[in-house]
Amino acid sequence: MVWLLSVLYLLCHGLALVLLPAHAQTLSFSFLIGAPVLAAAACLRRSVGSEAVVGWVALAVGMLLWAGGMAMNMYQEVGLGNADATPGISMLLYVLYGVPLTFAMAHPRHAPWFLSVIDGAMALLLGYLFFVYTFSFVTMTDASDAGVDSLRLMFDIENLFIAGFALLRYLASDDASRRGFFRALALFAWVYMAVAAYINHFGSDASYGGHADLLIDVPFLLLAAAAWRRMPLAPRQVSRRLALGVRVGSPLILAISLLVMSSLLVRAHPMLAVAGFAIATLGSGLRSVLMQVRSLEQQDRLDVLARVDGLTGVANRRQFDQVLQAEWGRARRSGQGMALLMVDIDHFKVFNDRYGHPLGDACLRAVAAALAGSATRATDAVARYGGEEFAVVLPAATREGVLALAENMRIAVEQLRLSSPVSVGQIGVTISIGVAWVDKVTTAAPSALVAATDAALYEAKRQGRNRVVEGQVAAVRAEDMDR
Ligand code: GH3
Ligand code: MG
Ligand code: MG
Repeated sequence: MVWLLSVLYLLCHGLALVLLPAHAQTLSFSFLIGAPVLAAAACLRRSVGSEAVVGWVALAVGMLLWAGGMAMNMYQEVGLGNADATPGISMLLYVLYGVPLTFAMAHPRHAPWFLSVIDGAMALLLGYLFFVYTFSFVTMTDASDAGVDSLRLMFDIENLFIAGFALLRYLASDDASRRGFFRALALFAWVYMAVAAYINHFGSDASYGGHADLLIDVPFLLLAAAAWRRMPLAPRQVSRRLALGVRVGSPLILAISLLVMSSLLVRAHPMLAVAGFAIATLGSGLRSVLMQVRSLEQQDRLDVLARVDGLTGVANRRQFDQVLQAEWGRARRSGQGMALLMVDIDHFKVFNDRYGHPLGDACLRAVAAALAGSATRATDAVARYGGEEFAVVLPAATREGVLALAENMRIAVEQLRLSSPVSVGQIGVTISIGVAWVDKVTTAAPSALVAATDAALYEAKRQGRNRVVEGQVAAVRAEDMDR
């Protein structure tokens, strides 16, 4: 349907030229302003709720700048109002239309505000350099032939630049919303580049109002249709490394554009060119410092997540294994004793069956907090061993201290008075604890300690639960000896 409407638009434009030759120029200008305005409207509509909202809005702004350039042309050529019209301003608007497009290709999605500020500042400076460069060829009232040639070259470079990067970003995008956006942008940019090159280099010098105008409509109508209709994307496998490389590297597009524009200005405006070089370099340097800080902060958060149990907030099993091994080695070197507790909630299956899993989870959290609250030394490590079992590593511990702490933990949980389906009198949820202690570590691995703690826990259950039982660490086994 949108494609049909686009063809109809072209047909109306053509018919207007043929049927009303006396008003051909005015009518043609209206169609040439209308096409980018339609494209802008389609992009704005597409931006609503899109993940690529910044890109679509930037594209719409680019289209409106272009439409503004054409409107200035119309103002000048049709002689509306003041005859003292301004080719410079229309030229400038045509050139500036590339700035939001470059920004859309360079600015990463979901970027923090300070990166948006840096990218925005670089895009604004780019616009200013375009402005200075354009007006070094055209005065506000006229453009020399040599100036027009230079401007044509600049348009060619700009168009090739946008088309090339849009295609690269399309080919290297691995998610649907990015691919949809860059496909529309690449389609537009390549057709626009071809049409602009044809008109600028092979078209007649005659002004607007000829049949070549129909060509100019084409890229805008294509963009309007592509933005309006969500066309299905063929599934394509993109290497993750390529996708990330292009996405992370895309902010360089702004820096590269600044460097290119600055080098074009070296002769005419050396100070400005130096400023352009400096801001391109410092802008991307600052960007990468800030990105690095962010990714290190994220790394910190991930490190914590990798060590902590998500439900209870105490250490997870992986962290427990590491701490146990590390403390075992330390105890062996220092000659101090160490202990391990294994804690299991009593009749927890019945609790879950009766009260449901969410309350079971709340009970797990409360028990974990009570255990952690009892183990007050900085070196004591409470971990979730699995399911409703917890383990506590107690380095540099005496036997009496360990047994007293285990008893404290048992009482702390009992005193939570969490109602239990198997309550006896006032007592609610309870725990059983197996304890094993060694006064001297002589083996490489703590497996005998773990086995003794496990056996003690089993014994505590067997003896009726809600109690602390101490196990004996077996004599050194051959496989635990140093290899
Ligand atoms: P015992 O006194 O012998 O330990 O009896 P028990 O019912 O506690 O027996 P067991 O240790 O075999 O039961 C473990 C139960 O723990 C089974 C499961 O429903 C519950 N469980 C394990 N992990 C979770 C969890 O993450 N959330 C909840 N709500 N329940 C869990
Ligand atoms: Mg249990
Ligand atoms: Mg259990």
